[in-house]
Amino acid sequence: MTEVVYIGLGANLNEPEKTIHLAIDALSELPDCQFFAVSKIYRSAPMGPADQPDYINCVVALETSLTAARLFDHTCTIEQQHGRTRDGEHWGPRTLDLDILLFGDHTISNDVLTIPHYGLKQREFVIYPLLDISPNLVLPCGTEVVELTKHISLNGMTPIN
Ligand code: ATP
Ligand code: CA
Ligand code: CA
Ligand code: CA
Repeated sequence: MTEVVYIGLGANLNEPEKTIHLAIDALSELPDCQFFAVSKIYRSAPMGPADQPDYINCVVALETSLTAARLFDHTCTIEQQHGRTRDGEHWGPRTLDLDILLFGDHTISNDVLTIPHYGLKQREFVIYPLLDISPNLVLPCGTEVVELTKHISLNGMTPIN
């Protein structure tokens, strides 16, 4: 039994573009995961505190036989391996952020994980990359991701590749 999982990547400290490429590589090499696709890579305005650099963002899709909890262990490890640090501020700058956006059509809500990711429908740096990979993607709630673009603009986000 495998699931297609979508992971959102973000970085805005040190060399964010390099970090994102290394994180894509690390995700593609995870055990029990098959690399499926990567979106375009974007530069986006920071969410929350504006006194921080722009973000580099993309979304990676994998097919996995891992549980969501095991996958989360791996994504936390990759964050640490890429020197995850932050200034402690909510939505403040960080070297690498990996969010599990979707895990098949599962809905998960526990102390550690909320899937679909709670910010998915509001964030341009999630919606547009998801559509790069899967233009017909439908959320577990039945919402078509392409419908979300009617309410969420690019907000200045641009592809860098
Ligand atoms: P946001 O969650 O708004 O994108 P953030 O990514 O900066 O903000 P973090 O500090 O990276 O937030 O994560 C806070 C907590 O979110 C983590 O400890 C983790 O347990 C929890 N979390 C819940 N659902 C998810 C998910 N789907 N993917 C990643 N982390 C999640
Ligand atoms: Ca700050
Ligand atoms: Ca995040
Ligand atoms: Ca996170």
